[in-house]
Amino acid sequence: MEQENIPTIKPEPEWMAQIESDRRLNISSCYQCRKCTNGCPVTFAMDIYPDQVIRLVQLGQRDRVLRCNTIWICAACETCTTRCPNDVDIAGIMDYLKERAIEAGVHVPEQKTYIFHSVFLNDVKRRGRVFEGRLMQSYMIKSGELWNKIKDGSIKEEISLGWTLFRKGRLRILPKGIKAKKEVRKILM
Ligand code: SF4
Ligand code: SF4
Repeated sequence: MEQENIPTIKPEPEWMAQIESDRRLNISSCYQCRKCTNGCPVTFAMDIYPDQVIRLVQLGQRDRVLRCNTIWICAACETCTTRCPNDVDIAGIMDYLKERAIEAGVHVPEQKTYIFHSVFLNDVKRRGRVFEGRLMQSYMIKSGELWNKIKDGSIKEEISLGWTLFRKGRLRILPKGIKAKKEVRKILM
């Protein structure tokens, strides 16, 4: 894989220490073996690789990291975390960086991913679990996918898929919550 030529922006040397103490995430022990990147299934869509994200955090390149699309492309599959010989929780770091990017008001390059995350989390906060019917409805409307699918006619396939899932008992008409909603909400606050 070819490495991107990463421009240097004013470093914030204390940033890595802050993250390590804030969430007890281990970053300093990364020695750039690239096992994480070599096992990641979605590097083809990333602007910088997972090992580069870690290295940039070590170098205090906060601005560069929070603006990359990698943190939004990451599918949280945890392959990288499992493969790392130094117990660096790369998937956990990606999640942490997403939160910081939103907090800093950085423009999210992958808007549809961001919309999906927000809709998913709002649903979990509301009833403690996801209601797939509403999740897809909200996502399609907010992301504009509904209008795209109506325009190109592929909405018929979506309806047909929904109907098949419903017939097989895989899609509910009404949502079902869980008892410990408040506890789940507290975790997500
Ligand atoms: S696998 Fe671990 S040690 Fe190797 S580059 Fe990735 S984060 Fe660093
Ligand atoms: S958790 Fe993210 S960065 Fe790690 S392997 Fe999966 S998709 Fe790649």
